[in-house]
Amino acid sequence: MAEQMMVETDLIIDDEQWLELNELTGGAAATCYQCGVCTAICPWGEVRDGTVSVRTMMRQAQLGLLDCSEELWLCATCAQCEMYCPRGVNIVDVIRGLRYLVWQQRQTPKGLPSLLWSIHWNSNPWTQPPSLRSAWAKDLNIPIFDPVQHEILLYVGCTASYEQRAQQVARAVARLLNAAEISFGFLGDDEPCCGEAALSVGHKPYFWEIANNTTRCFREKGVSHLVTVSPHCFDVFVNHYPAFMGQNSFVAQHYPQYLAQLLREGRLRLDGSVTRQFTFHDPCYLSRHNGELDAPRQILQTIPGLKLVEMAHAGIDALCCGGGGGRMWLETEPGQRFADSRIQEALETGAEVIATACPFCIACLEDSIKAQRVPELTVMDVSEIAALAHDT
Ligand code: SF4
Ligand code: SF4
Repeated sequence: MAEQMMVETDLIIDDEQWLELNELTGGAAATCYQCGVCTAICPWGEVRDGTVSVRTMMRQAQLGLLDCSEELWLCATCAQCEMYCPRGVNIVDVIRGLRYLVWQQRQTPKGLPSLLWSIHWNSNPWTQPPSLRSAWAKDLNIPIFDPVQHEILLYVGCTASYEQRAQQVARAVARLLNAAEISFGFLGDDEPCCGEAALSVGHKPYFWEIANNTTRCFREKGVSHLVTVSPHCFDVFVNHYPAFMGQNSFVAQHYPQYLAQLLREGRLRLDGSVTRQFTFHDPCYLSRHNGELDAPRQILQTIPGLKLVEMAHAGIDALCCGGGGGRMWLETEPGQRFADSRIQEALETGAEVIATACPFCIACLEDSIKAQRVPELTVMDVSEIAALAHDT
């Protein structure tokens, strides 16, 4: 039986938990030597009195200590800390593992269990009916994917299927694929959830179940190449599905990668001029998690007249918008929103538009623009800018 004791700070030491955490994370915390660089670099230190002690979380993981406090759920999984960790610790994965232990204690923040129940009942985390999944495309005549006829599957994802602002991104991507005369289809109301929301809040076993079902669905439908609207779906397909199930039976790209490839091949042309000044906000799940800095910039730089200026923090050093790691489903107090700092950085460049390539980033940045009353700045997805250039 596991040895268990309660200490004054409500930290629980449990051998079984320690073993489980090691199994869930492959012992990722073991090499941490407690230098504290992660704590110093974490953006929470910029917006909150008192940093989030990432170093302490790593220590707790090494010892099998469980802390059910709020701090664990603040992490936006931005991976900024991982970029600078001298020991190469997979900090985000350790945090996800610690979160799973909290799930087992049934002490997760309010709202998160219903997120998982929504995926279970509705196949999306947004508590929306599955029968409305393809409503965003009803006037676009996008065919249901057929592996014989179609070069690619457009994987829309839950957020771009249901959230009104993100639906515009899905529509822009579809327009560009049509403009390039790509034969493509989607899965309509049968599109399965990728499971990223479950992974982000640390419920790895449920994520694995979803990933298993989604992989089976793709295999049955003959999917060999898919293009995602969100970098979060892309990230789980390329980094987490193979880790769990071995090599994927399909290739996944995030849409800017595919569009940049079409531009290089001369299959897509963006000739219309867009004479405005833009800055690009790198989504964490495209840049730090996947090292893709070029594709969205290549698309923007192809557009005649478009001026691109970089923010003080760009590429792998870009500030996080705060929407990852399940934070989209948790309340963040005004004054503590990462996106506010990003809006200020964007303003300093003199840009009129923040371009980005992630539905979560759009939501966080637009909320911040409204809250800070910065009407001189707008947010556009790279696909919307490219569609504008194509149509002009
Ligand atoms: S930066 Fe890396 S080695 Fe240093 S405390 Fe954080 S996880 Fe440990
Ligand atoms: S992933 Fe980002 S938010 Fe999470 S601990 Fe690291 S730096 Fe902080």
